Amino acid sequence: MRLTFSASKGLVVTQPASICEHTLKDWVHSQQNWIIRNLDRSNAHPLTGEQNTPLERPQQIDIPLLQQTLQIHYLPASDYQVTANYNGNNSLTLSGMTDNTELCIQVLQQWFQRYARLPLGQLLAHTAEATGLKYNHYRIKAQRTRWGSCSSKGNINLNYKLALMPERWARYTVLHELCHTVELNHSNRFWALVAQFMPDYQTIHTEMKEATRMLPPWVNYPYVSSPVESPANS
Ligand SMILES: [Zn+2]
Repeated sequence: MRLTFSASKGLVVTQPASICEHTLKDWVHSQQNWIIRNLDRSNAHPLTGEQNTPLERPQQIDIPLLQQTLQIHYLPASDYQVTANYNGNNSLTLSGMTDNTELCIQVLQQWFQRYARLPLGQLLAHTAEATGLKYNHYRIKAQRTRWGSCSSKGNINLNYKLALMPERWARYTVLHELCHTVELNHSNRFWALVAQFMPDYQTIHTEMKEATRMLPPWVNYPYVSSPVESPANS
């Protein structure tokens, strides 16, 4: 079983058909802390954009960093979950309860976050090597509007959505965070360091103010997924 918050339907419980009502109620009740916590979060960030356009399952994913386009195939099966399988050859298959668009998008977001780790990690490593700027660890995250961050220990977080943006935006963001390993602020010295490696960074910095709107709708779909594993099915 799983819980999700949907923009159009509110709280959605996905359950196997076989489960009894009593077990279901008990389980939902046991999740109340999660529900309250995430309800606050969805209230704090009013959902925008998707009210006018009905949510659709994407047919493909363009990944400029890899110069790759993944084709997505949907394979309906009698299951209450959706499973993503990448079989190479630029082909991704989502199988299971694929008529549930929101569930498909949730699975796609989670799958793509893992898939983006490699190209973004490589970009970071190459940029560090080319500039001589050093970082400690990196993580790929799914922040709503932050594209990257850097801690005082030189740990860098990169948003997985960078893999869906024009390549130069991803390159700029990675460089920006690497420069923070030297200057942990936005002082003149920081911008001078960025300019040293990317003289036209200001153009990109300005372009990226529209970055959220440029992303494919499925990426921006606000989804809060339950971190809780389902209990044993009755
Ligand atoms: Zn910064």
